[in-house]
Amino acid sequence: MARKLKGIAAAPGIAIAPVVHFHTTLDQIPTWKVAPAEVEAEKRRLTGAIEIVTQSLVDLQKELAGAIGKHDVRIYDAQLAILHDKSFRADVENEIEQHGVNLEVALQRVVWRYEEVFAAMDNAAMRERAADLRDIGRQLVGALVASGRQKFTADGADYLFVADEFLPSDAGILDREHIQGIITAHGGKYSHGAILARSLGIPAIVGVDRVLQESSNGALAILDGDAGMVLLDPTADERADYERRLTEQRSIDRRIAELRFQPSVTPDGSAVRLMTNVEGVQDLESLEIDTMAGIGLFRTEFAFMERRQFPTEDEQVTMYARAVASASGKPVTFRTLDVGGDKPLRYFTIPEERNPVLGWRGIRLCLDFADILYTQLRAILRASAEGRARILLPMITTRSEVVRCREVLDELTTDLRANGVPYDARIELGVMVEVPVLVSVLPEVLSVVDFVSVGTNDLVQYLLAVDRDNPQVAKMYDPFHPGVLRVLAQIADATRAADKGASICGEIAGDHCFTPFLVGLGFRELSMAPVFLPRVKLMLRSFTVDECRDLVRRALAMHSTADVRRLVQDEVMPRWHAQLSGAEGGTS
Ligand code: PEP
Ligand code: MG
Repeated sequence: MARKLKGIAAAPGIAIAPVVHFHTTLDQIPTWKVAPAEVEAEKRRLTGAIEIVTQSLVDLQKELAGAIGKHDVRIYDAQLAILHDKSFRADVENEIEQHGVNLEVALQRVVWRYEEVFAAMDNAAMRERAADLRDIGRQLVGALVASGRQKFTADGADYLFVADEFLPSDAGILDREHIQGIITAHGGKYSHGAILARSLGIPAIVGVDRVLQESSNGALAILDGDAGMVLLDPTADERADYERRLTEQRSIDRRIAELRFQPSVTPDGSAVRLMTNVEGVQDLESLEIDTMAGIGLFRTEFAFMERRQFPTEDEQVTMYARAVASASGKPVTFRTLDVGGDKPLRYFTIPEERNPVLGWRGIRLCLDFADILYTQLRAILRASAEGRARILLPMITTRSEVVRCREVLDELTTDLRANGVPYDARIELGVMVEVPVLVSVLPEVLSVVDFVSVGTNDLVQYLLAVDRDNPQVAKMYDPFHPGVLRVLAQIADATRAADKGASICGEIAGDHCFTPFLVGLGFRELSMAPVFLPRVKLMLRSFTVDECRDLVRRALAMHSTADVRRLVQDEVMPRWHAQLSGAEGGTS
């Protein structure tokens, strides 16, 4: 099985290509074995890199001469001296020759060795030289990488860009024709690089810890931009599976333009409201509201996480009103701040927790720091005057938490009315069903809410006791577990009995393999990342409600995840493929 690295899904799509490393530091360098016959070539690379760094230091000296004075410019003389030091060069060459390592590794080892020697010296001036040496090492590696960069991008071969981070300036030197995907160790979904990747249509994963160290330069890897997963050293089967998915993805993509404006109904005419998940105001720019029933989940915490301090009430009103306006009268579901767990706010520190996902997060935190809740709810209420807003509370565990939030809302609306501030008096209040125990008390909770939205990402992690972010147990995280399906059935039954709306906003809502099951269970509102809408719509148009119910009846009686997966494979996928080929033939 492939080694899997988990990251943040930043731009969707699948890519299969060799990894190409790009480096800016001495800590993360490409590593490969050098055969005796290749040693001379490595030495020539060293000569070339020394020439490049010498030239750039001389240029820098000239450039800075006027600005920093003659004396300080001599700093660079010390660096030039190291660069041309005969024993430094001999040590690097020895390292290549004796240990069969590439030049970058040899430089790293020699620099680290020298650094240790300098650091142990009594003389402070000598200790300072360690920094010069490190800088020279970094510049040499930088020069090597820069030439490697051109070589790889001009090679005409497909590649996965793997680096510490992807900066806007990097976009200019990509081989746009051949880059298949971007994987970076740092960055968030809303870092500029990620935004750029999405707009360039390049699948991307960011925040993949130690990706440069874990992956080998030149080795084939698979990037799953939908799951935020990198597969290193994939087996032939995994590769074949992803190649099939890639072909499928391309074929679906071709149909996107046709399908997205068609109604989302089952073949027997039952409508399912397909909505979208939004992570920040940036997402609103590309929102095609005509193709969906509204925004089913606005994860407000991302806007908080990108800032240096809490947004003020007015700033929040501006943001929420913009979302409401973009939805053109369709509902926008604002989930209140769901920080804590794996989503910390750097300007709001809480004591370190041993189990943060079981800790002080979501509504728990907001109820304990009520001013955060008051400010946010007031801002949502004010924005609701501009269209249709809904409020969704995350991580609800007890009915009393909802009752408390209702009291806060009542206080706020009384105050708004008293001050003549407009808001939508019909605004709905809902809860996320993601803490398992809520399912057992759902009938009581439903009496104090207008709707529920099932957060299957967390619900599945808590039901199965499998960390959703831990690659070691990732294969156990399977929402097709019959026990999960039974819990979903319980939620659907309870909401139907109470005549309250129920949607799904976890990732399974966007997984087309799941669509017939969710419909069969009775869910009529699914919220997902926009990229998944066409696939889900296509699947929806493939199974009648009775067929969906029959699938669910059989799955609920099964005893293992493998059995349910087999059902998907045998009964759902063939229909999907038939529908796809029909779609390609122009029928649907
Ligand atoms: C969920 O838990 O399913 C969900 C939608 O919320 P998040 O992924 O933000 O925890
Ligand atoms: Mg959640």
